[in-house]
Amino acid sequence: MFEDTHDEHVLLTPGPTPIHPRAQRALIRGMLGHMDPEVFALNREIQQDLRVMYGTGPEAFTALLSGTGSLGMEAGFANLLEAGDEVLVCANGSFGQRMAEMAARYGARVRLVTAPLGEAINPADVAAQLSERVAMVAVVHGETSTGVLNPVPDIARLVRGSGALLTVDAVTTAGMEPFFMQGWGVDYAYTGAQKCLSAPPGLAPVAISERAFTRFAARRTPTPLWYCDFDGLRDYWTDHTYHHTVPVNLHFAFHAALRAALEEGLERRQDRVRRMGEVIERTLAPLGFSPYVRRAEDRLPTVLALRLPEGFDDAGVRQALRGREISVTGGLGPTAGVIWRLGLMGEAARPAPYRQLMVALEDLLGARGLVTRYDEVQAEVFARDEAPAPLPTLA
Ligand SMILES: *Cc1c(COP(=O)(O)O)cnc(C)c1O
Repeated sequence: MFEDTHDEHVLLTPGPTPIHPRAQRALIRGMLGHMDPEVFALNREIQQDLRVMYGTGPEAFTALLSGTGSLGMEAGFANLLEAGDEVLVCANGSFGQRMAEMAARYGARVRLVTAPLGEAINPADVAAQLSERVAMVAVVHGETSTGVLNPVPDIARLVRGSGALLTVDAVTTAGMEPFFMQGWGVDYAYTGAQKCLSAPPGLAPVAISERAFTRFAARRTPTPLWYCDFDGLRDYWTDHTYHHTVPVNLHFAFHAALRAALEEGLERRQDRVRRMGEVIERTLAPLGFSPYVRRAEDRLPTVLALRLPEGFDDAGVRQALRGREISVTGGLGPTAGVIWRLGLMGEAARPAPYRQLMVALEDLLGARGLVTRYDEVQAEVFARDEAPAPLPTLA
């Protein structure tokens, strides 16, 4: 049966994340037209805030697509590739596979760079396949299906100067992890509103480099995806002419969520994720949970992938948690029944919701002392002055 009130629901999934209270309030603002001057003013602020979030140059083009993160993915291939173009897709999980499938549907000749499940892409494997024929390299920064962080700065260094464009899926990273579009040399990046920013689903924030626009302008044929044609985006976002009706109420909520993120500070958010990850890992370790991704430097801080204890009733426990209004996500495909993927994006990366998980687990598993341990570790980790792990910088 559908229950219409889930005000107290605890969403610990790797997307969607709990909606930020300011975004929730902005959602119910009165309707305005998509061509209203106030909406254009709001859009301008969104574009400016997205430049900060993505680390673009001051003039870079940013916008929201009216759709989820997958539309951001599709729009990149649709606008920047033509039939017959060669594209290298780094695929070490299901979102990398999705990229490969989309690129192929737009007629690209796809070559895959793979890695074993639970391991990051090796930049040397990208270098080995890179040639002047490659029109684009595409990589998922944080692979949600396995909790793996791919080495985008290293891959970007290789791609720079090769003539290929670099497309980066920043869905689990932008707004919560270091991301320097201009500094690294990324040409196209996208995310989904409902991941690291804790806004409602339905918008895909994108950033497009000058180089990408130049490539787009040189197309022999128009993009087959009319809805997200880069020229159409510029019509609306830059020239303020009608292209399609944008979901204004989602723009209100997105604006509030992004502002809240920037006011908190991107570095403080990165630090918060790391501390929460450490607290959860240390609390659950005595029960037999262990990191699924072997190499510490390959672990994606925003999606904590934990191997389940021997004999753990994955489906049963998650169903019982759902009965207590707590949503936790298991593995996908080959990792189903093997791991949990705990979301640490946006508002999920807070001590309070994970304390509720520990309260429920202590009861369900008969794990006495779990909540006490959580409280102790949390107090210790959050009292520390320094960040728990050195944060990557632009260098
Ligand atoms: C969630 C996700 C997507 C797809 O986003 P949707 O909003 O579900 O369309 C793409 N890439 C990654 C890495 C994701 O986690």
